[in-house]
Amino acid sequence: MHPQAQTADTLIHPGWIVPVLPRGTVLENHSLAITGDRISALLPRSEAAAISARRVLELPGHVLLPGLVNAHGHAAMSLLRGFADDLPLMPWLEQHIWPAEAAHVSAGFVRDGAELAIAEMIRSGTTTFSDMYFFPDACAETAQRLGMRCQITFPILDFPTVWARDADEYISKGLALRDAVKHSKLVTVGFGPHATYTVSEPNLLKVATLAAELDAAVQIHLHETRGEVLLAVERTGERPLDSLQRLGLLGPRTQCVHMTDLGDQDIALLAASGAHVVHCPQSNMKLASGSCPVSTLLARGVNVALGSDSAASNNDLNLFGEMQSAALLAKLRDQDAAALPAFEALALATINGARALGLEDRIGSLETGKLADLIAVDLSQPETQPLYHPLSQLVYACNGSQVSHSWIGGVAVMEARQLTQIDLGALAARTGAWRDRIRRANG
Ligand SMILES: [Zn+2]
Repeated sequence: MHPQAQTADTLIHPGWIVPVLPRGTVLENHSLAITGDRISALLPRSEAAAISARRVLELPGHVLLPGLVNAHGHAAMSLLRGFADDLPLMPWLEQHIWPAEAAHVSAGFVRDGAELAIAEMIRSGTTTFSDMYFFPDACAETAQRLGMRCQITFPILDFPTVWARDADEYISKGLALRDAVKHSKLVTVGFGPHATYTVSEPNLLKVATLAAELDAAVQIHLHETRGEVLLAVERTGERPLDSLQRLGLLGPRTQCVHMTDLGDQDIALLAASGAHVVHCPQSNMKLASGSCPVSTLLARGVNVALGSDSAASNNDLNLFGEMQSAALLAKLRDQDAAALPAFEALALATINGARALGLEDRIGSLETGKLADLIAVDLSQPETQPLYHPLSQLVYACNGSQVSHSWIGGVAVMEARQLTQIDLGALAARTGAWRDRIRRANG
């Protein structure tokens, strides 16, 4: 042990540690130390006696694991949770969501909606989220204020919305945000062209050029439904994935969200390009969009991360639910009970998410030197007893409410289920006020 490891800010003695890397490992009788914003030691408990820590936390019956990475969502839409349900994607968007957004979305809406989303995400184990929504500056500011890590991919559309008039304005406002937070420890900023059916080729080309120059991430909804793909082929003679490739927008910085309609050629192209897929199983099921061939993608070497999508199409932001849904949906889709086993589902929500967001050297696994983004999950209650295999319990039995503690960059954002940065009473009052306003406007 090197000398710096002799002191620490926090020393945790959990029942088990699931570091995610090495893959599939479950450690017993191990301890983890946090110093500053980093993991300073992960070692057998017998050796941890040599560390003197300002705070020692005994967490028997708990498993310690990396904080979850929610690689796709629209956080502020939490204020539209349950606003319009049981509808297919296009009528849901065109007749309900877009008009409500046009009438109500503002910087204040995004601040309150993002805070609601962050409260829910921390309580269900997420420590990093990706966001694509209007007023991304308000979301970035909220995430920083609350100590939450996030990737913002600022929205780009051809048409005017409450936030910008045209693609050039979306891009210039988004790049101004990127400049403003370039020194942030918590927020990274990339491009969020909404989809190939809402952003024209010349504008996608601009994104390709700028993203390459800036070495920035690009996240896009892609192949969400078979209808989207068929319509693109009718209009352009090309599948959307092929269009991205032709425009220079498909590469290791690209995060393709949904990807339900994929043929062999699509999968080969994804694998060759190094682009990432963000699987959103509950959103895809709820909107009857289709299902992503996760097992096949992983077998072909494509990195697959996990996302909740918005609370309006889910209706929660709970990555434990997404892990379980991903595992069950993969088995049903493949007609194979061995498809996407528990550890693989956990990897989607941790290291694969970190990789998709370009943060795998900093988060996604518990390793000395990485950022201290981690959660403790209490497996001692009836819902997760008896305990044979911690990994099975995490994916198949936990519902997120077992998350007891959460640290982001070494800062405790939840302790014994109490959020340290968010006043839930005040948040509930503001959330209720938005509900009243939106309900009044919709008669
Ligand atoms: Zn989405």
